[in-house]
Amino acid sequence: MKKQTKAVRTQTSKTQYREHSTPLFLTSSFTFETAEQGKALFDETEQGNLYSRFSNPSVQEFVDKVCMMEDSEDGVATATGMAAVFASMAALLKSGDHILASRALFGSAHQIITQILSKWNITYTYLDSSATAAEWEAAVLPNTKMVYLETPSNPGLDLVDLEMIGKLCKKHGLIFNVDNCFATPVLQVPAEYGADLIVHSATKFMDGQGRVLGGIVVGKKEYIKDIRFFCRQTGPSMSPFNAWVLSKSLETLELRMEKHCDNALKLAIALNEHPQVKEVKYPFLPSHPQYALAQKQMSAGGAVITIELEGGFERVSKFMKALQIATLSSNLGDTRTIVTNPYTTTHAKLKESEKESLGITPGLLRISVGLEHIDDLVEDFTQAASISAQ
Ligand SMILES: *Cc1c(COP(=O)(O)O)cnc(C)c1O
Repeated sequence: MKKQTKAVRTQTSKTQYREHSTPLFLTSSFTFETAEQGKALFDETEQGNLYSRFSNPSVQEFVDKVCMMEDSEDGVATATGMAAVFASMAALLKSGDHILASRALFGSAHQIITQILSKWNITYTYLDSSATAAEWEAAVLPNTKMVYLETPSNPGLDLVDLEMIGKLCKKHGLIFNVDNCFATPVLQVPAEYGADLIVHSATKFMDGQGRVLGGIVVGKKEYIKDIRFFCRQTGPSMSPFNAWVLSKSLETLELRMEKHCDNALKLAIALNEHPQVKEVKYPFLPSHPQYALAQKQMSAGGAVITIELEGGFERVSKFMKALQIATLSSNLGDTRTIVTNPYTTTHAKLKESEKESLGITPGLLRISVGLEHIDDLVEDFTQAASISAQ
């Protein structure tokens, strides 16, 4: 069966009620038929659900689908994407270890690496997305344990060569950990390049409708085992309700991504031709500095584009006022098109020098292109670009 069929058909086994849609196991705990069964479940001579902090059928259904989509052996679902990112690091790194990361990371991932892991003497080195194989190689230290990256990155849409990093990690025995949130497994499967762990904010395209928070880490069994232990004890578990919503959403992920990407490319082309838009960045526009790499490792450009407007925050403010359809929010990956000014919102806490090195300027806008009709989106953005320039 193809992945799309499995995404639709993977389901918890039918209950006595013969339901068609997947049931929701909204329960905190599970019963024991006998005292002996309770004992057996706890000493793990019998496998089964005990308590929803550890496992739950609705959550497992979501995990099974993502493992299938990401070509991964096993996984753990978490309450948010950041819980997945943190668990993937905290469960596997110890004091004295070193982490090698791409500089262009989601704001909170950057804070975990620089402010939280550093408290436990876990050090880091950042590399630019333009770094060559030799530069990555030179940055590996004797105590380097993990490589962590995001591709495409939020919000700068910088790419990292997955094949190159896969080879580096294999050579040095490093754990290869990828945040695949922007591409989703529909556009890019990092495990094909040797990624050991793949983390997601399911809050974004996996839900795709702006309703629930969720996260997941999938990958090789040996690492997931430690991450599961960490999550079972520390408790960042995904709610069964959210898992039920997310599992249903995965049935339509491929369809939605096709439309998101189609809309995003068309809007990127239209804005690229607009005289009042200084710059447009999108992985599948030939002007993207890593266009060739995008073509190689992604099947489409994704749903996010960035534009740079002349005139800084004042212009951005006018542009946002002029928009009739697109909404202002810091979220992304919704059916509804969302516009964000990262400089003053999601990335406001970064130092000025950090913002500069990531290209996060006051005039930068991140557009998460939704599923509205493309003609309406082009009309909305082109009129806002013209009006705000007056
Ligand atoms: C939103 C996001 C996260 C964090 O996910 P939450 O579900 O908000 O915790 C991590 N990585 C990327 C790339 C994101 O866009």
